[in-house]
Amino acid sequence: MKCRVCGAQANIRLPQYNSALCAGDFIAFFEKRVSGTITKYGLLSEQDRALVAVSGGKDSLSLWHLLDRLGFSADGIYIDLGIKEYSHISLVKTRQMADRLHRRLYSFSFSEAFSKGVKELARMMKRPPCSLCGTIKRYVMNRACTDYGYSVLATGHNLDDEASALLGNMLHWKEEYLWKKGVVLEAERGLAKKVKPFFLCSEKEAAAYALLNNIDYIYDECPYSLGAKTLLYKSLLNRVEDVSPATKIAFLKGYLKRAKAEGSRGQEQEEKGSCSVCGYPSYGEQCNFCRLMTKFGSGPAVRFDVYVPSEP
Ligand code: SF4
Ligand code: ZN
Repeated sequence: MKCRVCGAQANIRLPQYNSALCAGDFIAFFEKRVSGTITKYGLLSEQDRALVAVSGGKDSLSLWHLLDRLGFSADGIYIDLGIKEYSHISLVKTRQMADRLHRRLYSFSFSEAFSKGVKELARMMKRPPCSLCGTIKRYVMNRACTDYGYSVLATGHNLDDEASALLGNMLHWKEEYLWKKGVVLEAERGLAKKVKPFFLCSEKEAAAYALLNNIDYIYDECPYSLGAKTLLYKSLLNRVEDVSPATKIAFLKGYLKRAKAEGSRGQEQEEKGSCSVCGYPSYGEQCNFCRLMTKFGSGPAVRFDVYVPSEP
């Protein structure tokens, strides 16, 4: 198998592009592809200050690294879920990347804010951990953007994440979410612009990019992701992709075209009122986050730890 660009021994097969590439040409290809997505969908401009949501996994750390390589100003935000070993290792990996890029890393800790981790808090709230985690992450990441003056929040969601979520929404006809995914959600009503530069890049490509750039990431997934239906949908889509390469890309590109016609902003758009405590969009008098902080936390203030790497 030869590299399509230089003819040397290829390291990576990319059946979805009917291609194979050596390590160096793959890195160049991947960066060009993400840069193309950023330009085509207007995700970031040179004037933007971006905050990258980092979990310590391959996607988010690769994204942070890649945005830096492309010359964008990007710092990181990490949410410590208070899941013992997993959270500790994740924080170490994100700090390593902050050191490598000489970029700031903001972190928000469940244990500090609520004196308990996501599992215990979810149990007390009688909610599944992922549902509670989603509410808090969504709020805290927005809040970090507005408190510290970042214009865009970038997340490492990749093609496999998006295609599996879309399949799930279609299988269950969750129409309230169906048209609300997208590569970009514009800023409005105090909510930061959100972008997904890896929207059209597969999990495998992100992992290869991490490996070839010596990015040290946590291999384990969050323990609450195990058994999630998303994993089933991912494996089903991979089986289809094996037989019919490029199906996932066609699925998402077709979706984007249709979603554009439907219009999207996401769940937040339906939250018509404003929270009386923080002013964020809310269904009720207080937003979910402020209610949680009032009941279980240290009050409405959100405290971030700011890690500033020393100069090289
Ligand atoms: Fe949060 Fe883990 Fe659930 Fe993801 S899998 S939403 S990180 S609790
Ligand atoms: Zn609020």
